[in-house]
Amino acid sequence: MLKTPAYAAAHAGAALAPYTIERREPGPHDVLIDILYCGVCHSDLHQARDEWGGAIFPMVPGHEIIGRVSRVGAEVTKLAVGDLAGVGCVVDSCRECEVCRRDLEQFCEKGSALTYNSTEMDRKTPTYGGYSTRIVVAEHFALKIPAGLDPAGAAPLLCAGITTYSPLRQYGCKKGDRVAVVGLGGLGHMAVKLAASMGAEVTLLSTSPAKEADARRLGAHAFAVTKDEATFTKLAGRFDLIIDTVSAPHDYNKYLGTLRVGGSMVLVGVPPEPTPVGAMGLIWGNKRLAGSGIGGIAETQEMLDYCAAHGIVSDVEIIPIQQINRAYERLLAGDVRYRFVIDLASLAQPAA
Ligand code: NAP
Ligand code: ZN
Ligand code: ZN
Repeated sequence: MLKTPAYAAAHAGAALAPYTIERREPGPHDVLIDILYCGVCHSDLHQARDEWGGAIFPMVPGHEIIGRVSRVGAEVTKLAVGDLAGVGCVVDSCRECEVCRRDLEQFCEKGSALTYNSTEMDRKTPTYGGYSTRIVVAEHFALKIPAGLDPAGAAPLLCAGITTYSPLRQYGCKKGDRVAVVGLGGLGHMAVKLAASMGAEVTLLSTSPAKEADARRLGAHAFAVTKDEATFTKLAGRFDLIIDTVSAPHDYNKYLGTLRVGGSMVLVGVPPEPTPVGAMGLIWGNKRLAGSGIGGIAETQEMLDYCAAHGIVSDVEIIPIQQINRAYERLLAGDVRYRFVIDLASLAQPAA
C-alpha cells in the first residue's frame, strides 16, 4: 500500500485537517498520479457537512484532480509516465451494464464508485479524493489533459466543466440560442464561458450585483439581478435554455416563467432542501424542467479537447491546502472568483 498525505473531515462539519490514507499498489490496468492541483467544488462542502445525507467519514474530498502520471500498470495503453492526467467525479463502474455501454458510467446500474464519499466496486473499500498527494485509478477513468491547457485552470474542468458542458450539448446549445445561467460561481462561470463559445446569447442571473463586470468579461451578453422581482417580468418568455447552478434553495417557478415556449430549464445545482414546483408553469408553454449529472468519461474527454481547442480554462484562485476551511467559508458567502484550486505542493509542508 502507498501511504499518502491527505486532508480529511473526521465527521460531519468537522474542520478539514491532516490525515494519512493508503492508496492501493497500481494493478495492471491502473495508473498512479502525483496530484498537482485539485479544484474545490461546492459538492465537497455539501458532502463534508453531510448536507445530502449518508456521508462516509473520515472524508477526503476533491474530484477535480490534475496530476502527473508517475507509474503505469503493465497493460496500460492510454497514458504513459510523465503525462498530465485528470480524474473527475467517478473512479470506477461495472463497465458492462447498458448504461455503462452508453458511456454514462456515472449512472452505472450497479452503482458507480465515486471519487470520494463512496466505495470501490467491492462496496467495502472507501474512496478518497484529491485533497491528497496521489491517487491510483483504473486507466479508463483517467482523462488525458491536452497540451496547452494550464494545469491549475484545467482542474475545475473535471467537474465544473463537464457538468455544464454536458447539458449544453444535451439540449443542443447553438449559435443564437438565448441561454440563461443562474448563479456565477464555479459551475456558473464555466457555463457562461462554454455557452458563449457555442455562439449562444448568454444572460447571467445572479443574486450579486457586484458580479456584473465579471459576468460580461467571462462572455455574458446581459446580466440581471434576481433579488429584483422586476427581473422576472422583464425576462418573461425569453430563454431557450436555463442552466441553474445554484447551491441553495430558491424558487424554480419564477425562472420557469422566463422560458419561451418549448424551452428547458436544467438543474445542475443541488440545494439540500427540495422546492415545490407548480404544474401549470410547465404545462403552459410545453416547458421542461430537467436535471443533469456530471458526464461520462468519453464526454469528459470530448469537453477537455473542446476546451483546449477554444482556449477555455477556469478562472482560479490558487490556495495552499492549509486554507481549505477558510475557502469553504468564502464559498458559502459566494466570495469565490471563480474556483478555488488547491496547490498540492503545499501538502508536503507542515500544517499552519
Ligand atoms: P459555488 O461556486 O458556490 O456557486 C454557487 C453560486 O450560486 C454562488 O456563487 C451564487 O451565485 C449562487 N447562490 C448561492 N447561494 C444562493 C442563494 N441563496 N440564492 C441564489 N443564488 C445563490 O458552487 P459550485 O461549485 O458552482 O456548485 C454549485 C452547485 O452545483 C452545488 O450545489 C454543487 O453541489 C452542484 N454540483 C452539481 C453537479 C452535478 O453533477 N449536477 C456537479 C458539481 C456540482 P450568485 O452570487 O451569482 O448568485
Ligand atoms: Zn463537483
Ligand atoms: Zn455499469
